[in-house]
Amino acid sequence: MAGEFDLIARHFTRPVRRAALGVGDDCALLRPVPGMQLAVSCDMLVEGRHFLSTVAPERLGHKALAVNLSDLAACGAEPLACTLALALPRADEAFVAGFAQGLFGLADAHGIELVGGDTTAGPLNICITVIGQVPPGQALLRSGARAGDELWVSGALGDARLALEVFRGQVAMTALTGDDFESLRRAMEQPQPRVALGLALRGVASSAIDLSDGLAGDLGHILQRSGVGATVNVDALPRSAILAAQTAALQHECLVAGGDDYELLFTAPPGQADAVRAAGRAAGVAVTRCGSIEDRPGLRVVGADGQPLARSFRGYDHFA
Ligand code: ADP
Ligand code: MG
Repeated sequence: MAGEFDLIARHFTRPVRRAALGVGDDCALLRPVPGMQLAVSCDMLVEGRHFLSTVAPERLGHKALAVNLSDLAACGAEPLACTLALALPRADEAFVAGFAQGLFGLADAHGIELVGGDTTAGPLNICITVIGQVPPGQALLRSGARAGDELWVSGALGDARLALEVFRGQVAMTALTGDDFESLRRAMEQPQPRVALGLALRGVASSAIDLSDGLAGDLGHILQRSGVGATVNVDALPRSAILAAQTAALQHECLVAGGDDYELLFTAPPGQADAVRAAGRAAGVAVTRCGSIEDRPGLRVVGADGQPLARSFRGYDHFA
């Protein structure tokens, strides 16, 4: 069976170009671009909590990096490098090879390098740290939303949550075609971080966050940090044809409280609407207006008629 250092050498060691030194020494060495700020973020994935044991290792490698790149995207930062801390129950070469393939596939797509990490035995647990760069003053923050701004969201929401409901048996498989199920499952297991959109929104968006814990909770973070409130039109939220075919109650749950979307939620002054649409076109991702920022504190979720929904929503909290 492979040892710790065989696994590292075989699966996680590749020549670096951007970094000055990669895997193999006590530290990696990066070459910071003079004058740039570094953006650093880390996200942990725990089996049973962040992913199901049924996920293919390639998709798990992809997702572990994707959720981290999504944080750089939400800051408008350009990804540079990442590290990987991995706890494995056993030295399963097929698993590690698949995992590395998924991770490097996404890393290559974004031109970033794995420069170091740690590998230990233990319950399956994955912690990636990403490092990016952004010019001073240009990072997109949660604190910049102002009353009068419009609220926007990228892509489509809710499919990952709908997939989870199918896995949980809450939504009957028989109600879906095989293609539909695969499409939902892909949304849950292989999210696409909106890095290009985050970069294109520099100087356009007034605030941004990536949607990992559901719109209600994540928008709550923008509202709190910015000291404002918001109204969201649930009927304006973008959704797939598959989600649109579900009951209104399930659609609302998936759209507003879903989680695992990894789309960008952001605000911009009304005068920037054309620039927002241009950013979406440049990044090749749909952008949809879905609400407005107001002085009045709190989050109001309304239908197309402007009437508040009867139920309330909460974001995901590991300890609540
Ligand atoms: P140290 O004892 O100095 O912490 P390790 O023996 O843990 O170093 O790791 C040896 C080298 O392999 C280091 O350069 C470390 O960054 C790298 N490394 C370990 N695990 C991983 C991994 N999962 N992915 C990438 N690099 C790794
Ligand atoms: Mg170590």
